Amino acid sequence: MSEPVPAPQGPAPAAPGAQPPGPAAASEAAASGAALPVVEFRSVTKTYGAGSRALTAVRDITFTVEDRPGRGEFVAILGPSGCGKSTLLRLIAGLGPQHPPTAGEVLVKRRPVLGPGADRGMVFQDYTSFDNRSVEDNIAFGLECQGVPTRERRERAREWIAKVGLSVDRDAHKYPHELSGGMRQRVAIARTLILHPRIILMDEPFGALDPSTRLSMQDQLVELWREQESTVFFVTHSIEEAVYLGDRVYVMSTGPGRLAKEVSVPPPDRPARVMQREKEFLEVVFELRDLVERLGKRGPEGP
Ligand code: ADP
Repeated sequence: MSEPVPAPQGPAPAAPGAQPPGPAAASEAAASGAALPVVEFRSVTKTYGAGSRALTAVRDITFTVEDRPGRGEFVAILGPSGCGKSTLLRLIAGLGPQHPPTAGEVLVKRRPVLGPGADRGMVFQDYTSFDNRSVEDNIAFGLECQGVPTRERRERAREWIAKVGLSVDRDAHKYPHELSGGMRQRVAIARTLILHPRIILMDEPFGALDPSTRLSMQDQLVELWREQESTVFFVTHSIEEAVYLGDRVYVMSTGPGRLAKEVSVPPPDRPARVMQREKEFLEVVFELRDLVERLGKRGPEGP
């Protein structure tokens, strides 16, 4: 389900739920010409349970993703099942029980994440929308929570119905049970992006789609992301998808989850169907596939 995460966040937010940079941090960054970090993990460890049932899902994860004004960044996260990809995403979202970390710090714009916030939007794999709401009302849900007047939210929802490749005339009044998997996922994406979150968190959003729909969705996502200029964290099991969509790919290892490797990859400047057949593209994919397989051979460990 897409989740607008409307709860307030941070000690002194500029807008409900947003995490503005601290004034000192902003002026410091401006003075030095350095980019402001959007998301930072500082030695983050998450252990679920306690005693003999304790399981450390991720250990000592450190990384920084900087702001790239006017562009954003697309970070794809790859790794074997159980290596902590969803844990990492939900720590950024501030969603329990992954949040808070057991040790270390998760910062968004230099402020510790205290819980969910409107500056972060999440799209999940299982495209559950509200069954009793039409496409239009599902997409407008977050605006409704923000108190946007009916007429305006209807107009904006309709714009987004078209942007994600659905038909206003045919689809606006349909209910989720009348939609295909691909259509439902388009609704979930529209529902999150309509709120313009600074950070978009996507947990295997295309995992359940057929290959052809998946390629179209990849192209559409690239187009929408360029328009939004957000920072995207995108979890996927598909190496092709990670290499195609990502500016950089984080490869995680298991037992417990760690950040094993960070790889910069070429931007998606051609359609998925074209780029994913090219020799250079396939070479990067094969290299990463070998790495993921090697990393997957280890199992989870205790705390
Ligand atoms: P991935 O997304 O890479 O498949 P997850 O982040 O879902 O990995 O899980 C990492 C590890 O943490 C797994 O071993 C999983 O079983 C465990 N885990 C995840 N969520 C919980 C939870 N709420 N309680 C206990 N263990 C959990």
